[in-house]
Amino acid sequence: MPVCLLAGRYLTYLGKGVGLKMDEKRMQVNEERLTRTFQRLVSIDSPSFGEREMADVLKEELRRLGFLVEEDEGGRAYKGTAGNVYGFRKGKLPGSPLLFAAHMDTVEPAKGKRAVIHEDGRITSEGTTVLGADCMSGTAALLEALWELEEEEALCRDLEVVFFIGEEKHLKGSAVFDFSRVRAEESFILDLTGPVGTAAYRAPTLVDFQIEVSGKASHAGFAPEKGVHAIAIAARAVAAMELGRVGEDMTVNIGGIEGGGGTTNIVPERCSLIGEIRSYSHEGALQQAKRIEEVFRKEAEKAGGSSRMTFQVPVHAYHTPKEHSSVRRFSRACEKLGLSGRLVETFGGSDQSNLSLHGIPGLVLASAMEQVHSCEEYTQVSELLRLTKLLKLLMQDDFDVQGSELLVKWVLPKQEE
Ligand SMILES: [Zn+2]
Repeated sequence: MPVCLLAGRYLTYLGKGVGLKMDEKRMQVNEERLTRTFQRLVSIDSPSFGEREMADVLKEELRRLGFLVEEDEGGRAYKGTAGNVYGFRKGKLPGSPLLFAAHMDTVEPAKGKRAVIHEDGRITSEGTTVLGADCMSGTAALLEALWELEEEEALCRDLEVVFFIGEEKHLKGSAVFDFSRVRAEESFILDLTGPVGTAAYRAPTLVDFQIEVSGKASHAGFAPEKGVHAIAIAARAVAAMELGRVGEDMTVNIGGIEGGGGTTNIVPERCSLIGEIRSYSHEGALQQAKRIEEVFRKEAEKAGGSSRMTFQVPVHAYHTPKEHSSVRRFSRACEKLGLSGRLVETFGGSDQSNLSLHGIPGLVLASAMEQVHSCEEYTQVSELLRLTKLLKLLMQDDFDVQGSELLVKWVLPKQEE
């Protein structure tokens, strides 16, 4: 019987018979400290690969919260100032650790940003920078949840926390993180827009490609027929390509074209294009890249030129099944807080892609950030509070799964007649 759906407020470990009254404190949040932490984090300049100060502040916070903290050398590969920050804290509840993660870098313009709290509870930047709610809202709520559980001496799971560098540069920080150290079997990433209580369970593969088109230079006035027009080849190929939403779960874009000789009187010998493919199907994205390569090859051949395509796959598709423990845990916590618990697909990337790639499935949680990557970015105090409550519940959730069986279940106190 799905007793968790009922209004029981007692928890019993099967086989242990320990009853715990669900403390009302679980629902309390220190709003003043939460907003202060958010403002402090926002005030730190933390561009991609310039995360040194942010890393130092977060490491210090985690240490004060009783975490064993390490920083890797992930930044070295990118000449960055800091590495990924990893923390582990033993808990008193049974089960494998739960992993919570956010990223430390923010997009530009972000130098000198300041969080302005308005009377209606909205928090914005001063208008000339992003706010940095992406990803400082989630980070502030995560720290606040940890502080409160500490003060309440609440029983928690073993917890792992990772703050990644370079997420905004195609997940470069998590791409070099050593996931073998992670013991968690599920993760919660704080990096999604939308109302708190929403989570993404699926995201696409991203293929970034470059195409070089080569023709033959010739004087445009004296001997145009001796030239092979690289830009004309590219134009015909782009016209023959499928662009935009090319299927139910795939998009293709050409984002830029450059080349030519910079003069009006020469048939251009070369040009290059950049573009991307997104698809929920990893294989589908790679096949699409092959099709695009073929379109360019044919058009170049017809004109007597050539083309060469190269691509990278910085983001791999993931799909966390709805039966997975992270989804069940999230749904239960949302239910208790009266949040929607809505699961969505996203077409954006996040560090969850690299976690899933390394065998750690999970969800990307809506983390109190809106209109990100713009100077209109904002958060709301009420959403920060909701997110903190949600994180507190997740960290205290002692459900566990073995296969698909729950080991621990909610049970009701004896029904009154
Ligand atoms: Zn983000």
